[in-house]
Amino acid sequence: MYTEDGKRYLDLTSGIGVTNLGHCHPRLVKVVQTQAATLWHGQLGMGTHKALADLIDDLSTVMPKHLTNLFFCSTGAEAVEGALRLARNATGRQNVIAVQGAYHGRTNACMAITTSKYSYHIGCKPLMPGVTIVPCPFTSQLKVSPNSNMDEEVKRCLGIFDDLIFQTTNPKEVAMVIVEPVLGEGGYVPLPKAYLEGLTKRCKDHGILFVLDEVQTGYGRTGSMFMAEQIGIEPDMMLFAKGVANGLPLAGVAMRPDIAKASIPGTQGGTYSGNALSCASASEVIKVFRDERILENVALRSAQLMNGLQDIVRRNPELPLQEIRGRGLMIGIQFSDNAPSGISGETVAQCLERGLMILNTSKFEILRLIPPLNVTADQCAEALKLFEEGLKAAVAAKGYVHNGPKVASMKPCCATPCYKNLDGTPQACRFICQR
Ligand code: PMP
Repeated sequence: MYTEDGKRYLDLTSGIGVTNLGHCHPRLVKVVQTQAATLWHGQLGMGTHKALADLIDDLSTVMPKHLTNLFFCSTGAEAVEGALRLARNATGRQNVIAVQGAYHGRTNACMAITTSKYSYHIGCKPLMPGVTIVPCPFTSQLKVSPNSNMDEEVKRCLGIFDDLIFQTTNPKEVAMVIVEPVLGEGGYVPLPKAYLEGLTKRCKDHGILFVLDEVQTGYGRTGSMFMAEQIGIEPDMMLFAKGVANGLPLAGVAMRPDIAKASIPGTQGGTYSGNALSCASASEVIKVFRDERILENVALRSAQLMNGLQDIVRRNPELPLQEIRGRGLMIGIQFSDNAPSGISGETVAQCLERGLMILNTSKFEILRLIPPLNVTADQCAEALKLFEEGLKAAVAAKGYVHNGPKVASMKPCCATPCYKNLDGTPQACRFICQR
């Protein structure tokens, strides 16, 4: 990225996980220009334009096979709202279960199931009723040590789910459970496979629809097109947005055919659904993914960044860091509880001064790295160098003096990693700084 006056920035934000093939990828520029000279937009009430028809064919090659039906809209929040309408139509039930710390968007229903920060619904009460928020195995929220046995924490959270589903509602009244497989705005926390499997089992047992919000994890970000593949679960509905058209607004819900069939005619839609420019871009994104072997790059660059970040911790054992974690190129860095307040914002500012764009997120002090999925090895090496400088400058600017035990080692969260890379090799998702 370059400013008007020519200053160069290395962008590890990708417009919040959107420009996954970088800014102005020449192939995307070309197809969008061609589409702009053909048809900008055609409303779907009277037919299907070619850009959308082609996209449906292309999407069918990357979507989970059992999710045969698609609803298109423009934003992630609209997709969440669409899924809620579909779940209510299909089950005849009204209530929703969402996860503590989740982010699902800013519209009225989305606010009610978003608890990553209070600021998203401040001054907007009352929110949509019928919502139960359940805990997930995020150690900061559970107020347990980052080093806790995750199997135990998964059991604890699912046990509380089993209570809440009868204390705050009744399973017969619950239409859907919605979850992000990696908690996004809430703190970049990969949720253990056993927890996600536990939720799907409970949904099956109670006839509740299981909805995966893959708005941020989707489209190659975590190392597979969608995270459902890595977890090996079959959601009833899956939401996509952000990187699908690399920055042009396109989002949607992929669902089982029986759910689509149960949708009351006329309830789903929107003026910009399936916008032609967005569709043209989205089709080409899928082709570029294949031609440029993007998923392989995600695995390689993920390993480079995760190892590089752990190396920074090992060489700077006095830094107030607690954990490096993530899947693929969705990487979170959490500061320790004793780090100065505002340290993540300060690090973002110090990195920006040095020409590196990163983001912070969550109620807790957490940084996130979301590079484009075609980021190169040299760019990652440069980013790691600038990040180390920015981080040290932020710690100094905040006047932090470390006088406790230093980081002695980095420990993976679980003895047996619950996720696998594309090539089948196991990879831990969290690395804890041991003091
Ligand atoms: N769900 C998730 C998991 C998200 O990360 C976001 C956006 N950050 C949304 C939904 C809402 O998407 P949008 O901003 O496009 O409405």
